[in-house]
Amino acid sequence: MAQKLHAGFYNFIDTIRMKKEIHPQYNDTMVITCSCGATLTTGGTKDALSVETCSQCHPAYTGKKKIVDSTGRVERFKKLAEKAQKTKKSRKDVKSKAEKNAARAKKQEKKAAA
Ligand SMILES: [Zn+2]
Repeated sequence: MAQKLHAGFYNFIDTIRMKKEIHPQYNDTMVITCSCGATLTTGGTKDALSVETCSQCHPAYTGKKKIVDSTGRVERFKKLAEKAQKTKKSRKDVKSKAEKNAARAKKQEKKAAA
């Protein structure tokens, strides 16, 4: 009788054990990086994670007013600003209309003189 109970107990344990090859790999040192620059090391199934706000910068913890960006709008704005800077730089190379007209006038003067 006791033997049967014992076997039943181990059968039960077998049913609640973690199934093999269906669980993700657990990483003991997952680094979470916040947009404010703070980092936190914890455990998880990913190698790294980036978040918009953390306990170092959230108004609830700091008591300071701050724009809390939950939809990534600040990131998007930064990207747009970066893009605008790049196009601004490339436009410096392009001559202005006045410069082009001056160059054209010089060419025509040379042609007239020859
Ligand atoms: Zn933060």
